[in-house]
Amino acid sequence: MAVTGLPPYDDANVFARILRGEIPCKKVYEDEHALAFHDINPQSPVHVLVIPKGRYVSIADFSANASDAEVAGFWRAVGRVAKELGLEASGYRVLTNMGRDAHQEVPHFHVHIFGGRSLGRMLPRES
Ligand code: AMP
Repeated sequence: MAVTGLPPYDDANVFARILRGEIPCKKVYEDEHALAFHDINPQSPVHVLVIPKGRYVSIADFSANASDAEVAGFWRAVGRVAKELGLEASGYRVLTNMGRDAHQEVPHFHVHIFGGRSLGRMLPRES
Protein backbone atom coordinates (compact mmCIF):
# COMPACT_ATOMS: atom_id res chain seq x y z
CA MET A 1 0.00 0.00 0.00
CA ALA A 2 1.36 3.44 -0.90
CA VAL A 3 2.02 5.90 1.90
CA THR A 4 1.61 9.64 1.64
CA GLY A 5 4.50 12.11 1.91
CA LEU A 6 7.09 10.35 -0.25
CA PRO A 7 7.14 8.97 -3.81
CA PRO A 8 7.05 5.19 -4.35
CA TYR A 9 10.19 3.17 -3.70
CA ASP A 10 13.05 4.02 -6.08
CA ASP A 11 15.43 1.13 -6.74
CA ALA A 12 18.16 3.62 -7.72
CA ASN A 13 18.45 5.06 -4.17
CA VAL A 14 21.89 4.79 -2.60
CA PHE A 15 20.91 2.25 0.08
CA ALA A 16 19.30 -0.03 -2.51
CA ARG A 17 22.59 0.14 -4.39
CA ILE A 18 24.51 -0.74 -1.21
CA LEU A 19 22.18 -3.71 -0.62
CA ARG A 20 22.84 -4.93 -4.17
CA GLY A 21 26.60 -4.58 -3.63
CA GLU A 22 26.91 -1.95 -6.36
CA ILE A 23 28.62 0.53 -4.04
CA PRO A 24 30.67 -0.26 -0.94
CA CYS A 25 29.85 0.38 2.69
CA LYS A 26 31.68 -0.04 5.97
CA LYS A 27 29.55 -2.92 7.20
CA VAL A 28 29.18 -3.58 10.91
CA TYR A 29 26.37 -6.16 10.89
CA GLU A 30 24.18 -8.14 8.51
CA ASP A 31 21.48 -10.76 8.89
CA GLU A 32 18.38 -11.93 7.03
CA HIS A 33 16.44 -8.76 7.76
CA ALA A 34 18.92 -5.94 8.24
CA LEU A 35 22.22 -4.40 7.20
CA ALA A 36 24.16 -1.95 9.37
CA PHE A 37 27.04 0.25 8.21
CA HIS A 38 28.88 3.41 9.19
CA ASP A 39 27.40 6.69 8.01
CA ILE A 40 29.60 8.33 5.37
CA ASN A 41 29.27 11.70 7.12
CA PRO A 42 29.32 10.90 10.84
CA GLN A 43 27.68 13.32 13.25
CA SER A 44 29.08 11.65 16.38
CA PRO A 45 32.05 9.38 17.19
CA VAL A 46 29.80 6.40 16.49
CA HIS A 47 27.21 6.96 13.74
CA VAL A 48 25.81 3.81 12.22
CA LEU A 49 22.83 3.31 9.93
CA VAL A 50 20.60 0.26 10.13
CA ILE A 51 18.41 -0.52 7.13
CA PRO A 52 15.90 -3.28 6.43
CA LYS A 53 16.53 -5.48 3.41
CA GLY A 54 13.03 -4.91 2.05
CA ARG A 55 11.92 -2.09 -0.25
CA TYR A 56 10.42 0.44 2.20
CA VAL A 57 10.73 4.18 1.67
CA SER A 58 10.25 5.31 5.26
CA ILE A 59 9.18 4.31 8.72
CA ALA A 60 5.60 5.04 7.66
CA ASP A 61 5.89 2.53 4.82
CA PHE A 62 7.78 -0.01 6.93
CA SER A 63 5.46 0.10 9.93
CA ALA A 64 2.37 -0.17 7.69
CA ASN A 65 3.54 -2.74 5.18
CA ALA A 66 6.42 -4.88 6.47
CA SER A 67 5.65 -8.35 7.79
CA ASP A 68 5.80 -9.10 11.51
CA ALA A 69 9.00 -11.07 10.89
CA GLU A 70 10.59 -8.12 9.07
CA VAL A 71 9.60 -5.66 11.80
CA ALA A 72 10.81 -7.91 14.61
CA GLY A 73 13.99 -8.84 12.76
CA PHE A 74 14.82 -5.23 11.99
CA TRP A 75 14.32 -3.89 15.52
CA ARG A 76 16.17 -6.79 17.10
CA ALA A 77 19.06 -5.98 14.76
CA VAL A 78 19.03 -2.33 15.88
CA GLY A 79 19.39 -3.32 19.52
CA ARG A 80 22.00 -5.92 18.72
CA VAL A 81 24.11 -3.51 16.67
CA ALA A 82 24.08 -0.90 19.44
CA LYS A 83 25.13 -3.55 21.93
CA GLU A 84 27.88 -4.89 19.68
CA LEU A 85 29.16 -1.34 19.16
CA GLY A 86 29.68 -1.17 22.93
CA LEU A 87 27.16 1.62 23.44
CA GLU A 88 24.90 0.12 26.09
CA ALA A 89 26.89 1.27 29.12
CA SER A 90 27.24 4.90 28.03
CA GLY A 91 24.00 5.16 26.09
CA TYR A 92 23.02 6.03 22.54
CA ARG A 93 20.32 7.67 20.44
CA VAL A 94 18.21 6.06 17.71
CA LEU A 95 16.66 8.41 15.17
CA THR A 96 14.78 8.10 11.91
CA ASN A 97 13.84 10.90 9.54
CA MET A 98 10.58 10.64 7.63
CA GLY A 99 9.64 13.01 4.84
CA ARG A 100 10.12 16.71 4.18
CA ASP A 101 10.00 18.28 7.62
CA ALA A 102 12.51 15.75 8.94
CA HIS A 103 14.81 16.34 5.92
CA GLN A 104 14.90 12.67 4.95
CA GLU A 105 17.59 12.42 2.25
CA VAL A 106 17.60 8.74 1.36
CA PRO A 107 14.22 7.19 0.49
CA HIS A 108 14.97 3.76 1.93
CA PHE A 109 13.88 3.39 5.57
CA HIS A 110 16.82 3.62 7.95
CA VAL A 111 17.58 4.42 11.54
CA HIS A 112 20.62 6.28 12.74
CA ILE A 113 22.45 5.07 15.86
CA PHE A 114 24.45 7.87 17.46
CA GLY A 115 26.86 7.40 20.37
CA GLY A 116 30.35 7.79 21.71
CA ARG A 117 29.81 11.19 23.33
CA SER A 118 27.19 13.08 25.31
CA LEU A 119 24.53 13.90 22.71
CA GLY A 120 22.67 16.71 24.43
CA ARG A 121 18.93 16.76 24.80
CA MET A 122 16.71 15.98 21.84
CA LEU A 123 16.47 18.57 19.06
CA PRO A 124 18.34 21.81 18.35
CA ARG A 125 16.16 24.86 19.08
CA GLU A 126 15.69 25.63 15.42
CA SER A 127 17.20 24.76 12.05
P1 AMP B 1 18.55 10.93 6.26
O1 AMP B 1 18.56 12.42 6.23
O2 AMP B 1 17.98 10.38 7.55
O3 AMP B 1 17.91 10.33 5.04
O4 AMP B 1 20.06 10.50 6.31
C1 AMP B 1 20.74 9.87 5.27
C2 AMP B 1 22.13 9.56 5.77
O5 AMP B 1 22.74 8.69 4.84
C3 AMP B 1 23.04 10.76 5.97
O6 AMP B 1 23.48 10.81 7.32
C4 AMP B 1 24.19 10.49 4.99
O7 AMP B 1 25.44 10.91 5.49
C5 AMP B 1 24.12 8.99 4.83
N1 AMP B 1 24.67 8.46 3.59
C6 AMP B 1 24.40 8.88 2.32
N2 AMP B 1 25.07 8.14 1.42
C7 AMP B 1 25.77 7.21 2.14
C8 AMP B 1 26.65 6.15 1.79
N3 AMP B 1 26.97 5.86 0.52
N4 AMP B 1 27.18 5.42 2.79
C9 AMP B 1 26.89 5.67 4.07
N5 AMP B 1 26.05 6.65 4.47
C10 AMP B 1 25.50 7.41 3.52
